[in-house]
Amino acid sequence: MNKKVRVRFAPSPTGPLHIGGVRTALYNYLFARKHGGTMILRIEDTDQTRFVPGAEDYIVESLAWCGINFDESVGVGGPHAPYRQSERKALYKQYSDQLIASGHAYYAFDTAEELETLRKQAEAEKQTFTYNTETRKTLRNSLCMSAENVNELIENGTPYVVRFLIPENTEVAMDDIIRGKVCVKSETLDDKVLFKSDGMPTYHLANIVDDHLMEITHVIRGEEWLPSLPLHVLLYEAFGWEAPEFAHLPLLLKPDGNGKLSKRDGDRLGFPVFPLEWTDPFSGDKSSGYRESGYYPEAFINLLAFLGWNPGTEQELFNMDQLIQSFSLERVGKSGSKFDPEKTKWFNHQYLIRRSDEDIAAEFMPFLLEKGIEADALFVARIASLVKERLNFVKELWDETYFFFQSPESYDEQVIKKRWKEETPSQMLALKEALQNIEPFDAANIDTEIKTWIEANNFGMGAIMNALRLLLVGAAKGPHLGDIMALIGKEETLKRIQKGISTIK
Ligand code: GLU
Repeated sequence: MNKKVRVRFAPSPTGPLHIGGVRTALYNYLFARKHGGTMILRIEDTDQTRFVPGAEDYIVESLAWCGINFDESVGVGGPHAPYRQSERKALYKQYSDQLIASGHAYYAFDTAEELETLRKQAEAEKQTFTYNTETRKTLRNSLCMSAENVNELIENGTPYVVRFLIPENTEVAMDDIIRGKVCVKSETLDDKVLFKSDGMPTYHLANIVDDHLMEITHVIRGEEWLPSLPLHVLLYEAFGWEAPEFAHLPLLLKPDGNGKLSKRDGDRLGFPVFPLEWTDPFSGDKSSGYRESGYYPEAFINLLAFLGWNPGTEQELFNMDQLIQSFSLERVGKSGSKFDPEKTKWFNHQYLIRRSDEDIAAEFMPFLLEKGIEADALFVARIASLVKERLNFVKELWDETYFFFQSPESYDEQVIKKRWKEETPSQMLALKEALQNIEPFDAANIDTEIKTWIEANNFGMGAIMNALRLLLVGAAKGPHLGDIMALIGKEETLKRIQKGISTIK
């Protein structure tokens, strides 16, 4: 690569950022960092009708949470500021004028009602109306009018749009880093609006002008923009500008592979499709987020990276630096990537078990405080070490360990039926005596002493340990009993045994 790489993520703030959008941002970021390039965030908010309050802040916060940083953006500034298109408004008209002057664009005066009628007529004949190389010859535009007529209409303040003039009978050749060479016939394209009567450019014009002015070298974006590529390539040609390289990323598919992963799939199937929780400002509806669901940002970006890319090796765990090292657009697949909710949790599990017990304890503290429990950090860290292998999320820690913090309030009926026999109370009382003498009261010592005591009394290991677990935990769950007793301590152990014996009938 001879030019210094400059890439951009260019979201429209029309709602919360879908995970597909975060993946696009991530691939741009990885590509920029890998090549020592520049990563730009540009807010594409020219369509005022689709503006959603809070969406831009949401996008910025989401990307920051993921560790995706920008060198140039609305917040950071940069040599091509402003980075919000609505603030660049004044800049686009000259480019629209330039295309009209060079014969690549034209004025169209068709009203919305006229176009709607044409659409309906076509529909009635089971066809679709498009403003294209054929139809434009019979419509109300500057191609079919005299210059005086056009000037008059404009001077009278007749509303108009500027449309791109798709050349007739040509092939548009495009090159995509992921898809290779693609060719389309110009007749299949329509004369898209570039500039609207409200003085605002459309996405197409603003996007190309800004990519050019911001010296973007690679456009990496979702596959849904592939249909716009011929127009974009033609726009670069019309302006006489060198086009950037393009890479269109594969779609994210529903878990069953049938169609694009949508916002509704997440709600329906019980997994987030947004990085952060989002409350719709109009309806008040909440959508869940990865952050609030307990995902580590490291796990989130790791799993996102794998939705469309693979390193070509067996390795699945990559931190951001490793992703930067290994990433290449050549290893991004063409076909859609199925979203796998279970694999998503697996990634978080992998990151959780690699965290230090102290970190997990610190993350669990707020959950304990919410329950009014103030626990010692070291104590919680030791508990975390016993059960973290079973967890996908820190929030699951409570269900696995609540009995470390409180003595059982009830005893599982099923377990009582199965494990609590005639002889159990007297056995447990005797065991209590035996435990009393264990010193020091650590797991290894407890294990050996209990084993010796069981053998000496000729009791069954299973019968004793299961009943003891019921007394200490209240249910048939939890880590190794010796560890539980050592952690809650001798006094609490003996208390729980006594309490259980008197409670269970
Ligand atoms: N504003 C477009 C979007 O919302 C940008 C598409 C592109 O990257 O060209 O995704």
